[in-house]
Amino acid sequence: MNTYFSPDYISTSNRLETVRKSEWLAKKILANKGTLIEPTPINQEELAEFLDQNYVASLFNLTLKYSALGTEWNSDLLKSIRHSNGGVRDAVLSALRDGVAGSLSSGLHHAGKKYGTGFCQVNGLAMGALIAKQHGKRVGILDVDAHFGGGTYDILGGLDIPIADLSTSHFDAWRSSKSIHHVDFCNDTASDTKGFLCSDYLKRVQKALDHLKACEVDFIMHNAGMDPSLDGISMNTLFKRERMIAQWSKENNVKVCWVLAGGYLSSFITPENLTDMHYMTYSNFLAIS
Ligand SMILES: [Zn+2]
Repeated sequence: MNTYFSPDYISTSNRLETVRKSEWLAKKILANKGTLIEPTPINQEELAEFLDQNYVASLFNLTLKYSALGTEWNSDLLKSIRHSNGGVRDAVLSALRDGVAGSLSSGLHHAGKKYGTGFCQVNGLAMGALIAKQHGKRVGILDVDAHFGGGTYDILGGLDIPIADLSTSHFDAWRSSKSIHHVDFCNDTASDTKGFLCSDYLKRVQKALDHLKACEVDFIMHNAGMDPSLDGISMNTLFKRERMIAQWSKENNVKVCWVLAGGYLSSFITPENLTDMHYMTYSNFLAIS
C-alpha cells in the first residue's frame, strides 16, 4: 500500500499537533518496517482546476491576508499545503491503480471553494474526489472526522458525488435534501430525536457505508479523523471502525484513498495515544492491500 508523506507537510509556522502528528506517525510506520513515499507537490494550475482561481492565485502569490490558522499567510504555509495536497493527489492516483493508498495529510474538510477555515486551507479531500471522478470513478466521500465537512459540501454539494458525513461535534454542520447526501450526528453526551447514543456509533458507521453502497460508489475518499475520541468514542471503537471500513471496501470492491484528518492531544490523549490511533487506519488498510 503506497503511503505518502514528506517532512514538508509540516510547516514551521504551524506547530499544531494535528500537523506534527504526521511526523510521529511516519516514524511509527518506518519503525514497523513500512515504507513512505515522497509526493510531488501540487502546483497552482492543478489546484485551480478544482477551486476558485482567484483564491488559488492568492495562495500562490502570497496575497491572501490570513491563513485558516488565523495567522499571516506565508511561503512556509504554502509549501506545507502544496506537499500535503500533492500527497493526496498521488494517493488517489495510486489507489486508482492498486485499490488502496493513503497520505499522512491533515486539515482538509472545512476548506471551501474560495476560503480556508478551521485549520483547513485547501480541501484535498474534495480535490481527491474530483480527480477520481475525472478518471471515471463513481466516487463518494466517507467523512468520519468528529466535525462536519461543510467545506467539502461547499465544493462538491452541487455535483453528483455521494457524501456520508458522520460527526460527533456540530462544528461546520451542513444540510442537504439530496438523496446522495447522508448527514448523521452521534455524541456520548447527547441523544438525537431517535434516541441514539454513542453506543450506536458503529451502527451509524455501518449506515454511512450502506448509504455509499446504495449510491453504488466504486471509490471512496476516507477522512479518517480520530477526534471522535474527544467526544466519548473509545480507541477500541475507533479501531473497529477502521477495520469495518477496510473490510467493507474489500468485500464491495470499492477502492480507497485515506487521509488522517482530525485528532488532537488532550488531558487523556498523549502523543503516543494519538499516533497509535492514526496507525490503526494505516494497519487496517495495509491488511486488506
Ligand atoms: Zn475534526
